[in-house]
Amino acid sequence: MLYVKKPAVFLDRDGVLAEEKSYIASKKDFSIFSYASECIRMIHEKGYYAIVITNQSGIARGIFTEDALLEMNDFLMRQTKADAVYYCPHHPKGILEKYKKNCQCRKPGTGMFKMACERFPIDMQNSYMVGDRATDILAGQRMGIKTVLLESGYGTAGMEQDVTPDYRLKDLRDVIEIL
Ligand SMILES: [Zn+2]
Repeated sequence: MLYVKKPAVFLDRDGVLAEEKSYIASKKDFSIFSYASECIRMIHEKGYYAIVITNQSGIARGIFTEDALLEMNDFLMRQTKADAVYYCPHHPKGILEKYKKNCQCRKPGTGMFKMACERFPIDMQNSYMVGDRATDILAGQRMGIKTVLLESGYGTAGMEQDVTPDYRLKDLRDVIEIL
């Protein structure tokens, strides 16, 4: 498949496209926001890729399997028409050896952006990272892209770390306005 060069909106999953819950283990716990697919349609219409990048350490922690996540990814892509979903299954304190490591992909690491850039010709200079956690903002800043912190997840009051995003917005619908 041939792709054209264009910027991307990188989207965290939980708290951005779906309700934030701790360790969403299967499709039945997975509540995609009613506006998610319309927002992704608008992101596409405005000339961006819509690429999900999500930390899923529940896999390393043995809470759900990688297969269960793949099924959720498939569901998410069918529901929202996102271009791709990249996930990090790792955690340095995971209980499953296979996934227990200090990887480059877990946000605020930048490995998932790099994977996306290998597949899609992305104009990073004009791209955005949209998330609800400090790690999302830090990851975007490490990649040198614009960052948007949303209130639609855990809320930004109890963040692990102070961050200075380019934008602070309520939810994904507000992101469309700045593109
Ligand atoms: Zn990883």
